[in-house]
Amino acid sequence: MKAAVLDSGKTILAIRDVPDTNPGYGEVKVAIKACGICGSDVHLVAHGTLKCRHYPRVPGHESSGVISQLGEGVEDYAIGDRVVIAAGTCCGKCAHCLSGRENFCKEIGVFGFDRDGSFADSLVVESRYLYKLPEEIPFEEGAILADAVSTPYNAIKYRGNIQESDTVAIIGCGGLGIHGVAVARALTKAKVIAMDIDAGSLENALAYGADEIINISQVRNAGKTLKEISKGVDLLVDFSGYMKNVEDSVRALNTGGRIVLVGIGRQPLSFQIPFILIEKMISIVGSYGSDHRSIPDLIQMYLDKKINLKPSITGIHPLSAINDCITDLDHRVGNPIRYIINPSL
Ligand SMILES: [Zn+2]
Ligand SMILES: [Zn+2]
Repeated sequence: MKAAVLDSGKTILAIRDVPDTNPGYGEVKVAIKACGICGSDVHLVAHGTLKCRHYPRVPGHESSGVISQLGEGVEDYAIGDRVVIAAGTCCGKCAHCLSGRENFCKEIGVFGFDRDGSFADSLVVESRYLYKLPEEIPFEEGAILADAVSTPYNAIKYRGNIQESDTVAIIGCGGLGIHGVAVARALTKAKVIAMDIDAGSLENALAYGADEIINISQVRNAGKTLKEISKGVDLLVDFSGYMKNVEDSVRALNTGGRIVLVGIGRQPLSFQIPFILIEKMISIVGSYGSDHRSIPDLIQMYLDKKINLKPSITGIHPLSAINDCITDLDHRVGNPIRYIINPSL
């Protein structure tokens, strides 16, 4: 079968034949119909700022497809079933995994980093990684549920404990944050405020229902502007990883406000006036990936028409175009949200 392979030290994927395997006990083979290119794939391939455990490696952790072969012991699925494949890998045996909180698993990993992923004709996976995808949801929109939409959903719904009266601020409106805007819009009746340094990303945020936007590069203090515009934020979710944004924005938080950190930053998080955290009883939590609740929740929201992911699909391309898509995403050519690779094209 054909796959896009990352060799050690390379900044480009090689399209080549790799061995095709049959599913073992508890596994299925999925013919891949769509796999989203994530920002982390750009870091992995083009910049080498993220690394795989072993090389060569087939990236791709945001995929959907059709079951083409069943291994022994698989009872809940049939050949021809449309499925989404989870982005994260886990042991499947610990108490967290068995209770459906896979992102708490000590052996958590990511497809395409810790084992081969979906930029290939097919992927053999344990059936516990699958979610049935209803006919109403196109493969490409189903694929991005695996990470681009479920990661912000987990952050906002389960880590941020969003209430429908919450004013929500989203910092960073790239591939993940833009879906943070979409999810916040679906889950609150109050204001959603989007913040970014990129005008194109803020335009996308307006299309996804943000009430207000703040271009961080054009204001002196983003937190001060946020306070003025919002009249108080209940839930602040950061996808940017720039801790300065979070520090500045604390002053805009209401009493009992929550901060959820999703974007991975390298600088320390410090507060000029730490007393504000105590006085306002502000909680700061991290959120990584999602668990067994998020994708089914999102599928239901999609069917209930509470979330529309069509604007996220920037383009659908064959495997041979993957390097061009990564370059365009890296340089934000045409203000992209998600490029989708369909290996069957
Ligand atoms: Zn990702
Ligand atoms: Zn586990």
